[in-house]
Amino acid sequence: MSTSQTVTVRLARNRFLLDEEESHIEIDQELCRSTGTGKRLVAVCPAGVYTEREDGTIDAEYAACLECGTCLAVAAPGALRWHYPRGGFGVAFREG
Ligand code: SF4
Repeated sequence: MSTSQTVTVRLARNRFLLDEEESHIEIDQELCRSTGTGKRLVAVCPAGVYTEREDGTIDAEYAACLECGTCLAVAAPGALRWHYPRGGFGVAFREG
């Protein structure tokens, strides 16, 4: 089994409880674009939460977030608002 297959299998053991009323990730599109934050978010997120559209808009599929905090480390101040999901929501590791 390759390393990427191993990672995929291990990630599949996680369980995600989606908070459909509140996203724990908010993006300031203007700041993201002007500071280059968007491309960094796409590059560093291990869960592939961020994608960039052709027009440069960044989308966040927050349901897949592993709550690692890496995106906060690369985002310019104000470009990203991230907090842990509300109690009971988010990722539960190795539940499978
Ligand atoms: Fe991706 Fe980690 Fe940021 Fe979640 S906290 S969006 S998994 S980089």
